[in-house]
Amino acid sequence: MKAVVLPAHNQGYRIEEIADPKPYKGEVVIKVNKAALCYRDLLQIKGFYPRSKYPLILGHEVVGTVEEVGENVNDYREGDRVTSMLFVPDWSCEYCKSGEEVYCKNRVLYAQELDGFFAEKARVKASSLVKIPENVSDEGAVIVPCVAAMVYRGLKKAGIKEGENVLVTGASGGVGIHAIQVAKALGAKVIGVTSSESKARIVSKFADYVIVGDKFSEEAKKIGDISIVIENVGPYTLEESMRSLRSGGKIIQIGNLDPSITFNLRLGYVILKDLSLIGHIGANKKDIVETLNLVKEGKIKPVIGSEFRLEDFGKALDLLKENKNRYGKILISNSF
Ligand SMILES: [Zn+2]
Ligand SMILES: [Zn+2]
Repeated sequence: MKAVVLPAHNQGYRIEEIADPKPYKGEVVIKVNKAALCYRDLLQIKGFYPRSKYPLILGHEVVGTVEEVGENVNDYREGDRVTSMLFVPDWSCEYCKSGEEVYCKNRVLYAQELDGFFAEKARVKASSLVKIPENVSDEGAVIVPCVAAMVYRGLKKAGIKEGENVLVTGASGGVGIHAIQVAKALGAKVIGVTSSESKARIVSKFADYVIVGDKFSEEAKKIGDISIVIENVGPYTLEESMRSLRSGGKIIQIGNLDPSITFNLRLGYVILKDLSLIGHIGANKKDIVETLNLVKEGKIKPVIGSEFRLEDFGKALDLLKENKNRYGKILISNSF
């Protein structure tokens, strides 16, 4: 089968022909229907995760159909449509037992310690799988584990209440455009902030209000008291995001994942406005199940900007790097 393989740390990627995977105990092999590209893939290629195993198949966002079931797997059978959590928890530590397996210290990540999903088939641990409800498309499911469910848990963590105003920066991007919909599904009024008029046209299909430009706090405050900002950009917008918030407001910090990026935080401002800056990374299985239900109810619709075949992975990557005309999620697909 074909796969996108990182041969060694910081050595780029290759599209290779490799042997089809076989399931070991507790595993299934899926046919990959669709996988989604994520900023983390770019960081991975750039060598930000040196402790990954190599050679490594890239990609951590997937929807597939179970093709072969290994020993000791009772909950899945051939033909089941599934997605996977981004990691495999041990399901036995104190965090896992308390339903916060995202903090599991023994978790192993797909596309880091385990092979990922930019391939025709993939070997997946049954314990990380989630069944996809009927009436949820492959596109609707592939955006859930890393994006929609991650935002869903972030908003729950921030204690979102119905009727509150939520501001989303980077609103047309793969995370932003779905974050708007998750916040609305949880009862918020949503202000989307984006960088151009062409992106604003997409954002306005989902958000209650749209602001274009990087100085957005004054206009945002005129709309109403803003309780939560979903910050998808990082240092370029974080100052304005803090200014936009009401006293006691919260920032859910999602972008930018690049660990080399820093920000000058004015502590006094944070204290005087009683702000919370909440770092946020992932979703638990429960969040994935609940968010898939929101997709099923039609409250979250997948926004797919582009779709590429596996052999055109390079073109997909170029699009991810280029910010101007990009919106929604970029998919790598084995079936159109
Ligand atoms: Zn991702
Ligand atoms: Zn655990």
